Amino acid sequence: MCNKVSRISAITLFVLLCTRNFISAQIKNDYPIQPVPFTQVHVIDNFWAPKIKVNADVTIPYTLNQCKKTGRIDNFLRAAGKLPPDTMTAFTFDDTDLYKAIEGASYSLQAKRNPALEKYLDTLIADIAAAQESDGYLYTFRTMKAAKPHGWVGSKRWEKEEDLSHELYNSGHLYEAAAAHYQATGKRTLLDIAVKNADLLVKTFGWGKEEKFPGHQIVETGLTKLYRITGKKEYLDLAKFFLDLRGTPGHFNQEYSQSQVKVVDQHTAVGHAVRATYMYTGMADVAALTGDKQYLAAIDDIWHDVADKKIFITGGIGATGNGEAFGKPYDLPNMTAYAETCAAIANVYWNSRMFLLHGDSKYIDVLERTLYNGLLSGVSLSGDRFFYPNPLASLGQHQRSGWFSCACCVSNMTRFLPSMPGYVYAQNKNDLYVNLFVGSESDIALSSGKVTIIQNTNYPWEGKNELTVNPAKRSSFALHIRIPGWALNKPLPGDLYNDETKSTKSFTLLVNNQPAKYEMIKGYAVIDRTWNRGDKVSLHLPMDIEKVIANDSVKADKNRFALQMGPVVYCLESPDNKDAAVMNIVVDKNAAVQAIYKPDMLNGVTVLQMKGSSTKRQLNSDELIKSEQDVVAIPYYTWANRGPSEMEVWIPYDASAARPKPAPTIASKSKVSASINNQRMYRALNDQYEPADSRDGSASYLHWWPKKNTTEWVQYDFDSSHTVSESKVYWFDDGPWGGCRIPASWKLFYKKDNEWIEVKNSSSYTVSKDRYDTIKFEPVTTTAMKLQVQLPVDFATGIHEWIIK
Ligand SMILES: [Zn+2]
Repeated sequence: MCNKVSRISAITLFVLLCTRNFISAQIKNDYPIQPVPFTQVHVIDNFWAPKIKVNADVTIPYTLNQCKKTGRIDNFLRAAGKLPPDTMTAFTFDDTDLYKAIEGASYSLQAKRNPALEKYLDTLIADIAAAQESDGYLYTFRTMKAAKPHGWVGSKRWEKEEDLSHELYNSGHLYEAAAAHYQATGKRTLLDIAVKNADLLVKTFGWGKEEKFPGHQIVETGLTKLYRITGKKEYLDLAKFFLDLRGTPGHFNQEYSQSQVKVVDQHTAVGHAVRATYMYTGMADVAALTGDKQYLAAIDDIWHDVADKKIFITGGIGATGNGEAFGKPYDLPNMTAYAETCAAIANVYWNSRMFLLHGDSKYIDVLERTLYNGLLSGVSLSGDRFFYPNPLASLGQHQRSGWFSCACCVSNMTRFLPSMPGYVYAQNKNDLYVNLFVGSESDIALSSGKVTIIQNTNYPWEGKNELTVNPAKRSSFALHIRIPGWALNKPLPGDLYNDETKSTKSFTLLVNNQPAKYEMIKGYAVIDRTWNRGDKVSLHLPMDIEKVIANDSVKADKNRFALQMGPVVYCLESPDNKDAAVMNIVVDKNAAVQAIYKPDMLNGVTVLQMKGSSTKRQLNSDELIKSEQDVVAIPYYTWANRGPSEMEVWIPYDASAARPKPAPTIASKSKVSASINNQRMYRALNDQYEPADSRDGSASYLHWWPKKNTTEWVQYDFDSSHTVSESKVYWFDDGPWGGCRIPASWKLFYKKDNEWIEVKNSSSYTVSKDRYDTIKFEPVTTTAMKLQVQLPVDFATGIHEWIIK
């Protein structure tokens, strides 16, 4: 049954689309290409369908339960006066986790009916409604009137919106959830709450009214979604107002929130990567809905800046944890890569919009790479462990976590995965775009009539895709089949990454077993013909194993290659490699690599096998000792599912890039202990890995953060008695942003008859940054040495390396 749209103001608006329960208002301007909604695409493959099932069976109930357990649902009850406002959760944007969980649950209801879940959502929505103030305001942290209000809410509504309050951010996620819930269930309950809130925003904000922009963007896309459903142009105008206000004088303007200049004057990606990418997505929406050319020019430029200089091979964006932000051009560190899960999800949203604007497959190339790698890595195979940052190298310090105090990535993954079928197809009148290769059955309404498309494929492990085209009646339309960049030796658009392997194999395309007549247009093989029921299109993509080299300007990837097969990027991980070590491995650029499908490993993956060598330092020589070994690579998205481990995406082909095993020195043969208990950090002290400088986060280090102003120690117990007379120590200092600085002072002791005696040094205890502090002392014969460290008054300290001679 179709529900009535509440109000359709202009004559140009009329009800067009009525699939199942969902009505949207038809509007004059929109994206020239429209996605085929997730409601029409039923995924039945061996890759995504099981992941969507884990999301439905594990992730959605888990996240909803966490929202309950952590008090996020209670926030609403407090605002409704059903619980005393004596406590609250940590962040003013915690309301959004519940909205996102409802959004994900709504999508999943569309894939599979679940009356119990639908009923539970009804009760949650009733709680949300009860927390809404009578004029539509919905922000539990203020409404609950806590005796001690949260520091971010401000003394009155919107006061701190450009900075910290997140009132409009909460609204944006509410609207996104409401649109999904309405689309999936046909129920107006959450939509009505959203509309009431949006009407308040329309009344409150605008030129000459309250002039504030959202500190954290997303209300823009939320408003355009409500506009499409209701036809209320005020929502679109408000989205444009929020964008146009940024960077105008008299506001809290800063790069961090993309308000350093007006949005139409922005040409590069800067600041907080999630805020930025949600904003570019909102700009695309407004550009599509208004025809604004200036917005389009700005996001086209920004897109090139990201594609050419600021995206990881995994599709991750936002290189630095410092402000969760885009880094400088080509600054793409591996171990300290931030690449937040939310930013990967936002990157999918943005690139799908860029495709809908331009119809070019290069945007789907970015989307697909992000989807199969830097986004999917955000959730464990079990569905209940999550990454916030998604690094490209690890010494074991990175593990997924069950929850974060700031839980954005968890709830974002929860909502994104079940919406994934909405990215498979798109259409424009009689042009049907096949963007992703996913086994599925879909009903699509073209101008020429209805058509059912069945995709049969074992993608991403195999390149063969069979499409059965079943038009309701014989009809003519153009099938645009995406030929992925990776199949044409182009890992990503731009020249950031190049395919070193340069396979000469090409794709083949058949219609009913005969070579297809097609034309290549914007990256698509376009077959324009009259289709009959049962016509078969066979696409064979060359699933070669590619070695990818980064642009010379990317220092972190120098003398390294990355392996990929189809859209999947690979990595080396401890459990599959000798001695559980991967950082010491070197693989020749010309090494033969073999792909083997392992059905029982990591829920079924194709692994890559090759010969390589492990490297080890030796005493009194700079030459490395190399020994041949088998090397195994797994899909990047599956790493960190088997406990703490080393991991590396960019594999050294030159030993200079490897981290060799240490030579047998006094230090490396010693047993390490310290005033903190962390075996992984102990290995840092004597791994003979030279940091580039004190703040080098890609080198391993031991630290005492968050302690400060205390006396700490590290100790070497030698393998036997040695006579020593020199000590060198390299401090870790991640100032000015981090919590570690060089120490206030330090002292060195040796063990004599179970007592610690200070050495008699002939040179003084210097304290330096970016180099070793060396002291020479009267030779002592001992079995152990201790380094005592006085932390600065306001900071911790760390140690990269400690050498004894
Ligand atoms: Zn996040």
